Amino acid sequence: MKISKKDALSWFEFFASLPEEEELMPGQQEIALSAFAQIEAAVKAKHDQLLSEIPNLKMLAGRTYYIGDDGLFPQGCKSCLLGTGLSAVRKTNRCNAACRFCYDYGALDRQPPVGEGMWEIGGTKFYEDDIDLLLSIQQKPTGISYVYLEPFMEIEKYYGVIRKFHQAGIHQHMYTNGINANETNLRALAEAGLNELRFNLGATNCSDKVIESMAIAAQYFPAVGIETPMTPEFFDSFQKKKDAILSSGIRFLNCAELHLNENNIDNYAGENLYMCRQGYISPIFSRNLTLRLLRQASEEHWPILVHDCSNRTKFARDLNLKAKEGGWFGQSTYGCEFAKLPYEYFLPVLRDEYFQFLEEEPMPKGFGLTDIVL
Ligand code: SF4
Repeated sequence: MKISKKDALSWFEFFASLPEEEELMPGQQEIALSAFAQIEAAVKAKHDQLLSEIPNLKMLAGRTYYIGDDGLFPQGCKSCLLGTGLSAVRKTNRCNAACRFCYDYGALDRQPPVGEGMWEIGGTKFYEDDIDLLLSIQQKPTGISYVYLEPFMEIEKYYGVIRKFHQAGIHQHMYTNGINANETNLRALAEAGLNELRFNLGATNCSDKVIESMAIAAQYFPAVGIETPMTPEFFDSFQKKKDAILSSGIRFLNCAELHLNENNIDNYAGENLYMCRQGYISPIFSRNLTLRLLRQASEEHWPILVHDCSNRTKFARDLNLKAKEGGWFGQSTYGCEFAKLPYEYFLPVLRDEYFQFLEEEPMPKGFGLTDIVL
C-alpha cells in the first residue's frame, strides 16, 4: 500500500486522537506502517542524492560511510562495528549540562547510581578488584567504552580501572562534554592508559574553552575526536569555529544521527521526523546535515576523518554485536525506543507542503477512513 500523504495525515490525526490505552487493530497498523514507510522512502531518496554528491566517499566493510584518511578511523568505532561490539562501562550518574538532545533530558537528576566503589560492566556490578577476576574468566573484548553521563564529574575515580584494562591490552574510549576537562586531569587520564577521548562539542555549542581542552587532549592521547549529535545549532556554531576546531589536533568527527526517546522528543516537537526501519525516530534534518558536512569535508580537504554515524550504522552495530554474542541469524537489539508510537509528532512532516511522498496510490478497498472501524 503506497498511502498518499493526504490520507496518511487524516489517519495520523485520527491515531493521535485515540486514548492512550487504545491499541491499533491490524488493519490500522498496516496503514500506519505504510505511512512510516512512505516518509522513510522520501527521506532515503534525499540521503541517496546527498551521498551521490560527496566526492571520495568511503565505506567501512559495508557498514558505515566516512570521508578521510583510513588511518584516522577511530579504533573505538572499529571495535564497535567490526569487533566484539560496544562493551559499555557505567560509573557516573550525573552531568553538569542539560542538552536538549540528551537521551536523559528532564531525568538527568534521576539516573540510578551505580553504587559506591562499584562499576557496571555488561549490566553486572563489579568492585575495581573484581576486574582481575573478570579478565581471568571471560574473553577480553576488543574495546570498551565509558558511556554513562559525564565522567569528568568525578574523573579521578576512573584512573585505577582504566589502568587495569590498559594493562590487559583492551582499547578504551570515553565520552565527555569537556566542561570540567583541564590539563591536569587530561594528562592523568592519558597516563592511566585511556586510548581515545571523544568530545561532545554540541553540548557546549562549540565553546572556546572546550576547543582549547581538545587541543590539550590531542597532545596527550593517541586519539582525540568529536562525537556529537548533528543538529542545526551545532552545524552553525561548527562553521563559525571551523578553523580553530580543525587545527586543534583532533583526528575525527563522528556525526551522530540524533534519535529521540520519550525524554527528548518534546524538544523536537514541530520538526519533521521519520522512523528508520521501524526503529529509531529521528529529525530529518540530522542526517541531511551530516551528509552536507561530509561533502564539505571532502571538497575542502579537511585534515580529519568525518564519519556518518547514522541510524543505519547503529543497525549494523547492533547486528554485529548479536553476531559476536552468538545470537541467531538476523537477531539484533535495534528497535523502537517508544512503548507506544507517538503519532502526533509525525503530523508536522505530513502537513509540510515541501515534503513530498515519492509515489502515491489510492487506498485499497476497506482502508478508507470512512470504511473503518476495523
Ligand atoms: S553532556 Fe551528555 S549526558 Fe550531559 S546532558 Fe549533554 S548529552 Fe546528556
